[in-house]
Amino acid sequence: MTVDAAAWVRGFAALVDAHAHELTALDAAIGDADHGTNMQRGMSAAVAALDDSDAGGTAAEVCKQTAMVLIRTVGGASGPLYGTFFLRFAGAIQPDTETADFARAFRAGLDGVIARGKAELGDKTMIDALSPAADALDKQVAAGAAPAEALDAAVAAAESGRDATTSLLARKGRASYLGERSVGHQDPGATSAALLVLAARQALR
Ligand code: ADP
Ligand code: MG
Repeated sequence: MTVDAAAWVRGFAALVDAHAHELTALDAAIGDADHGTNMQRGMSAAVAALDDSDAGGTAAEVCKQTAMVLIRTVGGASGPLYGTFFLRFAGAIQPDTETADFARAFRAGLDGVIARGKAELGDKTMIDALSPAADALDKQVAAGAAPAEALDAAVAAAESGRDATTSLLARKGRASYLGERSVGHQDPGATSAALLVLAARQALR
């Protein structure tokens, strides 16, 4: 049992579509009101690229292609950051991967986002959802949890990390220009990152 990469990308695109208004409304409060449309543009292009390419691509090929499309099509900060996540994930994932490999690749993706964006945990960014999810995956793998259990824990961790961004002061990205006024608003990127983890859970095959 593993995360089907193409189903993950398609599922993330569907969740982004379903939550586009919410993502944009969150970004309207502390940014420039484009996070929903940025992610929709990028992920619908990623799905179109999957439709155009050979259906039988490996997880690494699917994630690398998705990365390239996100970097090319999304103008905002989130495009290169999610692109880097998928690129580093692609570089680390094995074919016929197990939960431990998924956890390792997920951590590689997170490390890529940190290296690229220079944000730390607590800076009120997507890292605040991705990092707890990576920790939960590692913990579950170490405990020998079943894949569904490991991914459920990752989703719960990402969602509580997302919720915790509300009380944080933004230190990176556009929201940081607001200083204290960024407090009291949930971070849009942490919100989409929790959807990324949920999509992985739903793509377990
Ligand atoms: P932009 O800020 O260029 O308009 P988006 O609105 O699409 O781009 O994305 C904003 C989200 O990107 C933020 O909510 C935050 O989670 C994330 N983000 C911004 N800068 C960084 C960074 N340096 N590291 C990690 N995530 C970041
Ligand atoms: Mg924005």
